[in-house]
Amino acid sequence: MQQVLRRLQQAYAAFFKRGYGFPRFRAAARYHAATFRFGDGLSLRKDGRLGIVGVPGGIKAVWHRKLPKDATIATAIVTRQQGKWYVVFSVEAAFADACGTGTVGIDLGLNSLVATSDGEIIPAPRYARRAHTAQRRRQRALARCQRGSRRRLKAKARLAAASAKIARQRRDHLHKLSRSLVSRYQGIAFEDLNLTGLKKGMLARSVHDAAWSTLVQFVRFKAASAGAEVVLVDPRGTSQTCPSCGAIKPKALKERQHRCTCGCVLDRDVAAAKIVHRRAFG
Ligand SMILES: [Zn+2]
Repeated sequence: MQQVLRRLQQAYAAFFKRGYGFPRFRAAARYHAATFRFGDGLSLRKDGRLGIVGVPGGIKAVWHRKLPKDATIATAIVTRQQGKWYVVFSVEAAFADACGTGTVGIDLGLNSLVATSDGEIIPAPRYARRAHTAQRRRQRALARCQRGSRRRLKAKARLAAASAKIARQRRDHLHKLSRSLVSRYQGIAFEDLNLTGLKKGMLARSVHDAAWSTLVQFVRFKAASAGAEVVLVDPRGTSQTCPSCGAIKPKALKERQHRCTCGCVLDRDVAAAKIVHRRAFG
């Protein structure tokens, strides 16, 4: 009951602050989270198990990372998503992330998710594409079920669980990639991409799977807490310009190599990354 009251208080406070959007009724089926003040109903045992009041014994947990040493836990949110249980701790800690040195330009692509101006190429993992056939099968199974039936509910849960898994894999990969970029560089430049057109076209699925904007967003907030800088540059012609002599060298999408008359031979995406780097940092 305390939790419900706290939530209600929060919902009204947010409503008065923004000045519109009256808090709506939340059905029990939409209620998936419980917020504990740490130590009040939820505690942490020495062996890493969770203690929740009313639940006998300690609850086993898989820790995805250690708590910072000097951390004090403020709140714990217990949620259930697609039949899996998660606990999120909000923590107060006096630690600062460190960023690297030097600057880098980054070309975002579909063949290679990231190509850096230092010549590093990270292929796009294509999680959704790999799972595509199985997902379509689950979608068909759902469409065949009778509305309101128990089977339909089960088919829906299976589809949602599989989608959630793809999303988790994608996020995990992007978190690790953005962390590695921020810990190696102090200045990171991206193209300022406008994706609305691309997201509708033939490449829509690949563009969605690559999740460029999520990557830029992750790098941004990690950079902000580590004291690194993110620069967005004009994307026009980055893949058509020679990084060594500046000549305009148009090439079709299928041409994977940059070959210029000045003798510069580079991977196409690395060449573009070098242009991004120059536009951002000179
Ligand atoms: Zn050239």
